Amino acid sequence: MTKTVEENVELAGKITTPTYNSNLAKRNVADLQGVVQLLKEKKMLVRVKSPVDIKHEMAGIATRFDGGKAVLFEKLKNTDVSLLTGLYWNREVLAEIFNVKEKDLPFLSADSIEKWSKNPIEPIVVENGPANEVIIKNKENLLKDIPIPTHGLQDGGPYLDSCVLIAKDPETGVRNASIQRLMVTGPNRMTMLMDMGRHLRDYYERAEKMNKPLEITINNGVGLPVHFASTTPSSAAPIDADELGVASQLLGEPLKLLRSQTVNVEGVADAQYVIEAEILPHIRENEGPAAEVTGYYAAADDRWVVNVKAVTRRKQPIFHTIMPGKEVYNAVGLMAEASVYQKVSSMVPDVIDVYLSYGGCGFYHANVQIKKSSEGVQKNAIMATFAAFPPLRRVTIVDEDVNIYDPEDIEWALATRHDPERDMILISDARGHELNPITNDGIGTKIGIDATAPYPRPWEFQRLDMKEVMLENYDIEE
Ligand code: MN
Repeated sequence: MTKTVEENVELAGKITTPTYNSNLAKRNVADLQGVVQLLKEKKMLVRVKSPVDIKHEMAGIATRFDGGKAVLFEKLKNTDVSLLTGLYWNREVLAEIFNVKEKDLPFLSADSIEKWSKNPIEPIVVENGPANEVIIKNKENLLKDIPIPTHGLQDGGPYLDSCVLIAKDPETGVRNASIQRLMVTGPNRMTMLMDMGRHLRDYYERAEKMNKPLEITINNGVGLPVHFASTTPSSAAPIDADELGVASQLLGEPLKLLRSQTVNVEGVADAQYVIEAEILPHIRENEGPAAEVTGYYAAADDRWVVNVKAVTRRKQPIFHTIMPGKEVYNAVGLMAEASVYQKVSSMVPDVIDVYLSYGGCGFYHANVQIKKSSEGVQKNAIMATFAAFPPLRRVTIVDEDVNIYDPEDIEWALATRHDPERDMILISDARGHELNPITNDGIGTKIGIDATAPYPRPWEFQRLDMKEVMLENYDIEE
């Protein structure tokens, strides 16, 4: 349903004074064990009880539940570890865990980024936590005991796809947290992708110039606060800031990090597994193909090499994996939305809401809702949105009476409020996201679309309206 102007104005008012207290720690949903328990109680969990192979079969089953309840595989072949997937593919589930309305999710993360940037709560380092109940140092067994799945039929091997990588700046020691894909190539060896322009790649390149490996921890099965903190875009968390502090805001208490056994970088204390490792200098080996967020396979190439030194885990871990598709869109899109909203609304106060749509992979298309206070602000909103999130390829601006979550409503605005010759901006040869095959190594054209009505709104652009009624007050047979 399209929101009324009054509802939007009310929403806009709420955004300026956000008060979200999800307190995940106090509500016992900080870690995956707590999340699984909550989802069982709320009947938001599919439980697969048949024995399932982690190679192809698990993904084949999980894909059938895309966008619905989360899926717990209780019995995998050759292991007594269970596997959770689909945790991020439905915003209803995420809203339940955070204890907020679905529509408030992006504002919750925007709020936590803002609070963190004004008053950061630094993580604290502890010696023991759930994630080092078991310590494995035998080189031949490091990765063998972890049920790492193979998703796509053409994937080059088993992949870690939802792990939070923690590293430290080789010069300043500032922590960085990010999510990367890693392919298993041996009992203690992996290859990985490091995106251009990301802090981790910057750290690595400076370490490599010093002929040193870059130490990392690879944290599997972190709770939602650490996951979302590590997807904070670099526009909101610059290279000299430790984005893990955002997690403390969502938790409601300082995040606990775990001292490692073999590297000088901490792990996440309530993760399921912590893989202690180093990215080796000057060595490249084959990585890929890999099922990716774009809905395509990313091509194989010689990429960076990871040497695993130790693995610590819980006594009874739940392995966590993310499926390509809606799940990745939400997993990255929500935090990007939050940051885009925060940046754009600080530059253009007319902005009410931002949505990075599923069809745009949660990465490439932004629908931006504004309440125009003068003519031309919509063009400023286009520029501000592109500046706020570089992977974007298309920004569509609509008025406050258009539902940015509904593709048909967006189409209606395009059909009746957009003149391509006047209302379109093309930006050639701009940097975007190199994983997208339509770009030339990340370089491509961006398009800004103004689908707003003229200001002040002429009568012929007033949307038709109907009387609001309460259906339960009527005797109706359907
Ligand atoms: Mn960073």
